[in-house]
Amino acid sequence: MFLDIKELEAHPLDFEEEFQPDVLDLGGEARQITPLKAVGHAEVVEEHHGKHEVITDIRLRGRLTAGLELQCARCVEPVRQEIARDFELLYRPLGADAGRDELSVTDAEAEIGYYQGDGILLEDVLREQVLLALPLKVTCREDCRGLCPHCGTNLNEEQCSCAVAVEDPRWTALREIREKLQH
Ligand SMILES: [Zn+2]
Ligand SMILES: [Zn+2]
Repeated sequence: MFLDIKELEAHPLDFEEEFQPDVLDLGGEARQITPLKAVGHAEVVEEHHGKHEVITDIRLRGRLTAGLELQCARCVEPVRQEIARDFELLYRPLGADAGRDELSVTDAEAEIGYYQGDGILLEDVLREQVLLALPLKVTCREDCRGLCPHCGTNLNEEQCSCAVAVEDPRWTALREIREKLQH
């Protein structure tokens, strides 16, 4: 859904949208598995710079929810995660801040972004917000044992034989003594 600055100037917009998985490209970080729901309000706000210059911003407020599948940081098995995020954003025209000290801060709470041309695509905004909502790290369970660093076996599922193959340092010391005695 394109948020056109001219249309928003004519009338603010309340939106309630649903996006099926794969509409938003989340990259490799997460897979969307339930529809992403977004409700919010879009409007135009004007910022005055000096006496003559008016900068037209788009303000977006809303909330999104989605069901995602992420990877366990230890065993890389899929982990289901519900995310919800409230957002309050202010988009200035690209270049509006260039060479200026600071614009009148219309909204101290809002995150500042930039739009190019006639407006912004709601999908782009939501994709960014979803990525910001991702936890830095998830694990499938608190005591996930992860993968064996040697053979890659998922240690939650089975025990590999690598632990046995790794030599106990005490035996190494004994073998060295024996080898010295033999020579
Ligand atoms: Zn895990
Ligand atoms: Zn192993």
